Amino acid sequence: MAEIEGNENTEKKGMNFVEEEVYNDLQAGKNGGRLSTRFPPEPNGYLHIGHAKAICMDFGVAEKFGGTCNLRFDDTNPVKEDVEYVDSIREDIHWLGFDWGDREYYASDYFPQLYDLAIRLIKEGKAYVDDQSSEEIASQKGSPTEPGTNSPYRDRSVEENLDLFMRMNAGEFDEGSRVLRAKIDMANPNMHFRDPIMYRIIKTPHHRTGTKWKVYPMYDFAHGQSDYFEGVTHSICTLEFVVHRPLYEYFVKELADDSYCPRQIEFNRLNLTYTVMSKRKLLQLVKEGLVAGWDDPRMPTISGMRRRGYTPQSIRNFINTIGYTKYEALNSVSLLEHAVREDLNKIATRVMAVVNPLKVVITNYPEDQVETVEMENNPEDPQAGSHSMPFCREIYIERDDFMENPPKKFFRLFPGGEVRLKGAYIIKCEEIVKDSEGNITELRCTYDPDTRSGLPGSQRKVKGTLHWVSARHAKDAEVRLYDRLFDVENPAAETERDFRELLNPESLKVVEGVKLEPFIIEQATPGTKFQFQRVGYFTPDYDSTSDKPVFNRTIALKDTWEKVQKKN
Ligand code: ATP
Ligand code: MG
Repeated sequence: MAEIEGNENTEKKGMNFVEEEVYNDLQAGKNGGRLSTRFPPEPNGYLHIGHAKAICMDFGVAEKFGGTCNLRFDDTNPVKEDVEYVDSIREDIHWLGFDWGDREYYASDYFPQLYDLAIRLIKEGKAYVDDQSSEEIASQKGSPTEPGTNSPYRDRSVEENLDLFMRMNAGEFDEGSRVLRAKIDMANPNMHFRDPIMYRIIKTPHHRTGTKWKVYPMYDFAHGQSDYFEGVTHSICTLEFVVHRPLYEYFVKELADDSYCPRQIEFNRLNLTYTVMSKRKLLQLVKEGLVAGWDDPRMPTISGMRRRGYTPQSIRNFINTIGYTKYEALNSVSLLEHAVREDLNKIATRVMAVVNPLKVVITNYPEDQVETVEMENNPEDPQAGSHSMPFCREIYIERDDFMENPPKKFFRLFPGGEVRLKGAYIIKCEEIVKDSEGNITELRCTYDPDTRSGLPGSQRKVKGTLHWVSARHAKDAEVRLYDRLFDVENPAAETERDFRELLNPESLKVVEGVKLEPFIIEQATPGTKFQFQRVGYFTPDYDSTSDKPVFNRTIALKDTWEKVQKKN
């Protein structure tokens, strides 16, 4: 016995609590040792990073124990749902690296069975049509400590209920004029048992079933049964459904026998600092043009993160790091950004780009000469090779890398000072050229021809090394620099101001005239990951064309926010 327990404990090591529950059920031979999960998005918006957490769980646990995971669109409300969302959801799950094979289902596929079940429950006296408005029904709900009040329609005859429900579905009544309710217990301490609504009238056509139905099932009447129809064994969802679980089980028991019954298990939602997760709010941002669309790189959506240059691996690593618990928490976006940097550091091609260019003329370098210098593509990856970069008399450096009157310990360029141009020569600043308003327009420098790598002088030490590009060969581009979408850590917790007032006005900065080494343009295809050295990680944006290249900054090299916080 002790030995078996020992083995079990070793096997359980590293499992989260949901995996442990699943493992225990499988060990106990429940459902004949079968494992089936599902990911059930409502197609009423694009998926966000919170959904990614659910996807990693639902698909991950199935993968881990040799089960399967269904994709089920929870399309029970035609008013808010759309095929655009269905398509985007499929694309995002695939991009994250998961696949549902041919197991793509729709709650709307089960409308006939659900309707039949409703008819049966009416016949058994377990459901009734209520003619009251939703406000009246809500006012009779009571409170957690006080029982509710029975509806005056609660004791209608079976015949009348059947007749009314069928006529509801035939379109004879207006939206909101009647609902079908389960007849359970208006005094139940669990408010969800107080005669929950099963069906409401909706006359908007459905994106799959058209105008066939005029009554649509509520979440609680659809979800458990859909799980049952599909043979789902573990219905994993988020903590807000804990209070729904008894009702989930109540309805499922109307269908299930002893041989098989789906089981609901809940974990904590992902909440992230400096953003919102509510689809309703995200939709508002899109509809009101406060962002450029669902895939705006500042959005917490999977499509936004993809466009911004995040990798699926980094998102999965982040989700692994935060883990699954039974307690709500607010996770720091810095953790996600850390995971993104860590992954990009491994895979991004190192290149040079100057965001805010200042021209440097190397006066002792021959006018017509062009050399090429070899640049390592990725020091983290020996297989990545190298590429060549042109060097000539005129180059650009970053304006911030020069100061006319530098403070102590400024190790970049200043009058009379020397720096190394990465991969090339040491240069010395001899002269500043200014326009009539006193703005610096150009630096005149000399170079030490002996300091190129491979030559004896290459060992000579200088304090600073700068990135640069050849002015004659550089390509112009636009870059988009992103910052956090919101100014406050937890916009959802703000009660005083509307969430739209909390948007960070500096969340997007567009910089034109950025100078790129030509290799970047040669290599850039959708999804290419670059590290613009000393500047950050970048990827081509969807708006990029050969006439006008556009790059998104995925993330800066260092977490500047962390520094600010430490200082404060
Ligand atoms: P709503 O129901 O308000 O439209 P939702 O975010 O719950 O929004 P669904 O499409 O119903 O959206 O979610 C699909 C699945 O993703 C559900 O199982 C849900 O529990 C899970 N999910 C949604 N948001 C999060 C989150 N922030 N963290 C983890 N899982 C989430
Ligand atoms: Mg939901």
